[in-house]
Amino acid sequence: MKELTHYIGGEHVKGTSGRFADVFNPATGEVQSKCPLASTEELNKAVDIAAAAQPAWGATNPQRRARVMMEFVRLLNRDMDKLAEALSSEHGKTFPDAKGDIQRGLEVVEYCIGAPQLLKGEFTDGAGPGIDMYSMKQPLGVSAGITPFNFPAMIPMWMFAPALACGNAFILKPSERDPSVPLMLAELMEEAGLPKGLLQVVNGDKDAVDAILDNPVIQSVGFVGSTPIAEYIYGRGCSNGKRVQCFGGAKNHMIIMPDADMDQAADALVGAGYGAAGERCMAISVAVPVGDETADRLIEKLVPRIEKLKVGPFTAGNDVDYGPVVTAAAKEKILGLIQSGVDQGAELVVDGRDFSLQGYENGFFVGPHLFDKVTPDMDIYQQEIFGPVLSTVRAASYEEALKLAMDHEMGNGTAIYTRDGDAARDFAARINIGMVGVNVPIPVPLAYHTFGGWKKSMFGDLNQHGPDAFKFYTRTKTVTSRWPSGIKEGGEFNFKAMD
Ligand code: NAD
Repeated sequence: MKELTHYIGGEHVKGTSGRFADVFNPATGEVQSKCPLASTEELNKAVDIAAAAQPAWGATNPQRRARVMMEFVRLLNRDMDKLAEALSSEHGKTFPDAKGDIQRGLEVVEYCIGAPQLLKGEFTDGAGPGIDMYSMKQPLGVSAGITPFNFPAMIPMWMFAPALACGNAFILKPSERDPSVPLMLAELMEEAGLPKGLLQVVNGDKDAVDAILDNPVIQSVGFVGSTPIAEYIYGRGCSNGKRVQCFGGAKNHMIIMPDADMDQAADALVGAGYGAAGERCMAISVAVPVGDETADRLIEKLVPRIEKLKVGPFTAGNDVDYGPVVTAAAKEKILGLIQSGVDQGAELVVDGRDFSLQGYENGFFVGPHLFDKVTPDMDIYQQEIFGPVLSTVRAASYEEALKLAMDHEMGNGTAIYTRDGDAARDFAARINIGMVGVNVPIPVPLAYHTFGGWKKSMFGDLNQHGPDAFKFYTRTKTVTSRWPSGIKEGGEFNFKAMD
């Protein structure tokens, strides 16, 4: 049995807590390795190393830091296949999808190459007689990030690339379900020229997370994962005086207007609902056709597409649309929710419950499911299923569809399919959700914009990546300076306007 490590102080270090989590091959159901779960002492040791390494890195000019990012991009491209294979084998997503996971992280690294420009401060020449005023964006010191299983390459890179480009040290606590790629990324950053101790990977569970939240040296914490944990981390981190941003779960609605191109809408729903087995925070999990006639046409287009979906292991290459879910527990939870949908009266139009793959009977595969006539009181509507299950809620009007999405407690992403510019414009303006697609099913903003939901999908002020990341990982210092020729004799006792 392979025993994974932490990556501390530039070395692979064995866990000493005696606690481990099983890492599965989701396609076969076998345990492929053991992930060490760090103790508070192990986490604190990494923080001490980070704190010692950070001042020199923070004082390194931003152009040199950017060059490390440039080289890292080259290495990511060099090792793309190796990384994608490791990612698929622990997560289960298809090989092309694993490459997409890496690519969307890489693009944020590319954005961070702009650090010299993005870190420029402000300067006012002659704010008063002989007085200049300027602001600097300085690193926070030691930052930490806690990431989910579903994007084990992209989300760590969304955090550590801007944190490091801004001159911080970073401690990553990745998901214990697929920790290998984060370990590989830390090694690659050092190969790219990052000094040791600046990017460390401490594997673990709640114990390591609590140690992060309680360590007074750590200045900021980024979290991406489910909403209850996001809420917990935000509360505990903030009450310990840290800067915290937490991104939680989702229940993304797609509104289909009567004038939409129904083939386009059905194709979009199939990709966005079932891609990565529905294990995406930007997956569409609720289809909201407007009007019964639209709903009937949509279901008619969806059913054959869903029935044709190919489910299998990533080793089958391009012949697979989606793979297994991440663990047996995830599969059980999904099947339990599907049963609740049936029990509570939703119509199961495509039933994948009997799905089994020859040769992979113990894998965590879940066949595709489509529900129609779902109502807002049902568990399958209220909860995030995080599986290959699409729920259709029929709305009588555009206003009813809009209200439905607005009343849901989650607010990560949403989309509208229509040919009517006025409806699309109204939707984008009024919806209380952070990321909106117009005829785009998964509107994940590119690296130079920012990513973040509203409502219970986000706790904090600043979004991920784009300009917000450079705000989150720096603090502003403003200097007012006057040189001796301008200094008058005697003290001044009032707040002065600059004259
Ligand atoms: P999760 O909340 O179970 O785990 C996320 C991280 O929190 C992991 O590192 C885990 O070790 C840690 N953790 C788990 N339980 C903890 C506890 N009790 N105390 C402290 N830390 C704990 O989430 P997951 O299953 O890995 O990921 C799926 C979830 O993440 C979904 O809800 C999905 O919508 C969400 N997600 C959100 C975004 C976004 O940007 N909003 C992106 C990706 C995933």
